[in-house]
Amino acid sequence: MSAAATQHGFAGDAERHRRDAPRHCPRCGASLASGAGISVEFWQGPDRIFHTWCAACRWTGDITPATEMIGHEPGHG
Ligand SMILES: [Zn+2]
Repeated sequence: MSAAATQHGFAGDAERHRRDAPRHCPRCGASLASGAGISVEFWQGPDRIFHTWCAACRWTGDITPATEMIGHEPGHG
């Protein structure tokens, strides 16, 4: 009786952030989790974006998770 409680609300958002936030720099592969980088989640319109900075190679960029499809395609019929 507890699983459904994490689907919405703050707890769910924090969990999704942990799951979707980039763990490694896409350029040099350094771990971003141990303080070697910063990944800040924000919304831009309907898109979730992780603005990410790598301390190892100083790469900066926006990473958009593609795990959630935007739109309403009929899809699997
Ligand atoms: Zn890097």
